[in-house]
Amino acid sequence: MDNLTTEKPRLVIIGGGAAGFFAAITAAENNPNLEVIIIEKGKDTLQKVRISGGGRCNLTHACFVPRDLVKFYPRGNKELLGPFHKFSTGDTIDWFDKRGVKTKIEDDGRVFPVSDDSQTIINCLWKAVKTAKVQIHTSQKLVNIQPPTAENPRYKLSFAQHSPIETDYLLLTTGSSAAIWDMLQSIDYQIIEPVPSLFTFNIKDERLKDLAGVAVPQAQVTVKSQKLSAEGSLLVTHWGLSAFAVLRLSAWGARVLHELDYKFEVVFNWTGFEKVQDVIDFLNEFKQENPRKHIQNYPQYGLPTRLWERLVAAAGIAPELNAADISKKQIQNLAAQLCQCTFAVNGKSTFKDEFVTSGGVALNQVDFGCFESRLHKNLFFAGEILDIDALTGGFNFQAAWTGGFLAGTEIANRAKS
Ligand SMILES: Cc1cc2nc3c(=O)[nH]c(=O)nc-3n(C[C@H](O)[C@H](O)[C@H](O)COP(=O)(O)OP(=O)(O)OC[C@H]3O[C@@H](n4cnc5c(N)ncnc54)[C@H](O)[C@@H]3O)c2cc1C
Repeated sequence: MDNLTTEKPRLVIIGGGAAGFFAAITAAENNPNLEVIIIEKGKDTLQKVRISGGGRCNLTHACFVPRDLVKFYPRGNKELLGPFHKFSTGDTIDWFDKRGVKTKIEDDGRVFPVSDDSQTIINCLWKAVKTAKVQIHTSQKLVNIQPPTAENPRYKLSFAQHSPIETDYLLLTTGSSAAIWDMLQSIDYQIIEPVPSLFTFNIKDERLKDLAGVAVPQAQVTVKSQKLSAEGSLLVTHWGLSAFAVLRLSAWGARVLHELDYKFEVVFNWTGFEKVQDVIDFLNEFKQENPRKHIQNYPQYGLPTRLWERLVAAAGIAPELNAADISKKQIQNLAAQLCQCTFAVNGKSTFKDEFVTSGGVALNQVDFGCFESRLHKNLFFAGEILDIDALTGGFNFQAAWTGGFLAGTEIANRAKS
């Protein structure tokens, strides 16, 4: 990095992740006269892309209407509406398609490369940075930012083991780096406290014992004593419960659940949307129509047999009891197990396919027209460094692509004038 003596306008991007690469490519392609440099503290770049989506990289989501798309962002929904009108999910698919990456849409809307291999995305991004002549420096950690002064209009950047450099434009795409957030706080940025999002619930309960792998396609989960509720699939894991309903709740409740130290009660409606009284009526009907049958052998509401058996047992109904002999109380118990099944959550676990940090640079300090700081001209932010995060499904990368693209475009244009 010591030979950076060019007279060209310069953009330094700190952080060689999804947002950094996308911004660098956009800026360099739009303004060949701009010197674009990515500085990465790790030995390798794009590490999260590599491990993303279980190694397949769920790069975006097939939700093409900005107004619908923003609903997947517990933090950032208002701010991303404008940006998504400029660069959205369809643009991401086109961008990669034009560079030879074919993608496919899975049934749940998640978009992956046809290769099912995140390396395809990495290769594409690397090819594009090389073609656009972006310089990449790894193993260099930014340790200080000195904003422009009356004497020096450039940003001065200091590194752990290398000499400082100056730049006209600075883009921070450092993801969830506590050190960078501290640095920003020291130059007056408000940082929303980072807390994890997208996690699963630890639950130890006899009703779930040895049921790992059992899944329910549509359930409702509510956090007791909070106005927090989510719907979707549920999966019993070795340590508790996961799948979309739980991840969705963990994202919307990231902050509240953190405050509860991840100890709270959840109520599951395994049937999806049935009301207790309707279930009682239905079970009474079953009883009348099938007096000699053992209800345990007749799973209802599409529930897997093993889970149904556990809920019947938890309702106090013995396996050999004829339906005709099930008491009113037992019917009520079973309806409660089905619609208001309460579990104590004690801690959280990482969802290995995707997790993010909620928190970061406060959104009121950023101009989302181009992701520029409102405090310092020519300083931009994109990706997870911002207090933006989304549900699982490709939305987090989309925020990084969109921010990177808009910041890169603006810097390229500004550097032309
Ligand atoms: C296991 C896992 C799987 C995921 N899967 C998906 C998925 O399939 N789909 C999806 O949409 N999202 C997924 N995500 C979320 C997604 O990876 C992030 O939202 C996205 O990577 C954010 O990109 P970014 O460029 O902002 O930050 P990052 O990708 O985190 O990149 C930041 C970079 O900055 C560097 N850096 C930090 N500090 C410094 C410093 N001081 N100096 C220099 N460099 C620095 C870091 O080393 C890092 O390389 C997943 C996350 C995880 C953890």
